Amino acid sequence: MEQLRLSPSRLNDFTNCPQLYKYRAIDQLPEPPSIDAERGKLIHSVLEDLFEKASEERTIETALDLLPQAWREQCEAKPELAQLVLDEKEWMDRAGALLGNYFQLEKPNTFESTYREMHLEKNMNDEIYLHGYVDRLDIAPTGEVRIVDYKTGKSPKPGWEEKALFQLRVYALLYWQNHGVLPRLLRLIYLGDNKLLESTPTEAQLKSAEKVLLNIGQEILTAIETSHFPTKKSRLCDWCFFKTICPAHN
Ligand code: SF4
Repeated sequence: MEQLRLSPSRLNDFTNCPQLYKYRAIDQLPEPPSIDAERGKLIHSVLEDLFEKASEERTIETALDLLPQAWREQCEAKPELAQLVLDEKEWMDRAGALLGNYFQLEKPNTFESTYREMHLEKNMNDEIYLHGYVDRLDIAPTGEVRIVDYKTGKSPKPGWEEKALFQLRVYALLYWQNHGVLPRLLRLIYLGDNKLLESTPTEAQLKSAEKVLLNIGQEILTAIETSHFPTKKSRLCDWCFFKTICPAHN
């Protein structure tokens, strides 16, 4: 069997619903662009460009100046966005507001970012390859590492923080295993409701994340071998593009 390619998003898909994982990762069925995902891409792109500027230029004014060009490029790459965004002014106003929120949570002119969209990867074993893209990774002059992820939605409800942190723990694990440095801080930035979720990872937490992801990887391998991807109905079904063809709903 081919080595299984895993990322935090695919792990999340399988955990949420094995059938959803199958539609996306095995069948590779196309999905129309989602307005929330496209908004996220736009904000990520502006924040990525912002850190290419000199520190004194990293202001809200610069971010707002970068916004129209980033949006033009996104539309050129995906012309169908014109049908998705019907009120462009409202769309840009919302994007501008999210960028405004960003500047309330971080002061990007006060630190240097080392990497944006950093690709981390590792063969976890002969059967599983793990990879992911980190939105931002900052290495302080002291050598301390901070892993940052931007979310354009709202922060998790109480009790759901650990699930939200899993993705960054996977990145931290990859960085630790590849570079031999345990990241000092994981930071999730929720622009939707102006909140930060931070955690200082411990070796035990990262080893536990490794165990969890390897277990999920084994479950996926078994599902592939047996061609058995059960459906898992939940509130997520209401947002699932495949609901119309999903056996759980037909
Ligand atoms: S509709 Fe629900 S059960 Fe069906 S694939 Fe999507 S998430 Fe899974």
